[in-house]
Amino acid sequence: MFVNSAKELEEICNKDNISICEYTIRSQEEEGIKREDIIKKMRKNLLIMQESSKRARSVEVISVSGLIGGDAVKLSKYAESGNSLCGNFLVKAMARALSSSEVNAAMGRIVAAPTAGSCGILPAVIISAGEKLEKKEEDLIDALITASAIGILIAKNATLSGAEGGCQAECGSAAAMGAAAVVEMMGGTPRMALDAGAIVIKNILGLVCDPIAGLVEAPCAKRNISGTVNSLTTADLVMSGVKSLIPFDDAVLAMQRIGKQMPCELRETSMGGLATTPTGIMLKERILGK
Ligand code: SF4
Repeated sequence: MFVNSAKELEEICNKDNISICEYTIRSQEEEGIKREDIIKKMRKNLLIMQESSKRARSVEVISVSGLIGGDAVKLSKYAESGNSLCGNFLVKAMARALSSSEVNAAMGRIVAAPTAGSCGILPAVIISAGEKLEKKEEDLIDALITASAIGILIAKNATLSGAEGGCQAECGSAAAMGAAAVVEMMGGTPRMALDAGAIVIKNILGLVCDPIAGLVEAPCAKRNISGTVNSLTTADLVMSGVKSLIPFDDAVLAMQRIGKQMPCELRETSMGGLATTPTGIMLKERILGK
């Protein structure tokens, strides 16, 4: 059975001198799933992620409601212009995140890792880091497996659902999964990967879920961009040697408690936050009628 805490995970990885990815594969093998089947499944996920993070960058993809769409193309062109402040790497990663979110809002195919609303973050983070570091396909697959371990720990000890824990549980978890995976991809230890996950969560604690008109479009798509930036910059922070004062398990505990303290208006009901601003209500009425 998969461990219940990051502390246990780190101890086993250190004792057996293995990565989080390798531990995750072994734990699945104990459940009777073959290693080659895990790899095959993750390869399939990676292919879908590559497609979703690319599609809306080359052609305008507009959501079914018309609320969002076409921005990934703009961002992509801007990245290529060479005029951005943050540089091609980060702006291209942002465009990738937006692309998957736009594809999702247009009912296209995405990998809901960990959820459809946060589906842009993991592909953007893993694919962008892999491209920059000139990693092979198998390295990206390993990164997805590491990311899944972080997702399992959060699901066991808190939640991955916006309806239960707010957007911190969706975009926060996706960004934590990505940061830990990239740190492992860069050669960081299990502790460093877990520290990256903890820092990301700490930086997104309290983020509410308040989708306009109840649609997973706005503010969701742009939150995928900020989650991607949070994830990639945290990976660099940890690789520079900076540690997390609060360990991963405590960061997840805080997320779980904050989720429980959040009023239902801020947990995917669209009864609060951005959804009930004058503009939020106007947009809702435009899409759904009065
Ligand atoms: S705002 Fe809510 S629906 Fe949108 S991505 Fe965040 S948790 Fe999901």
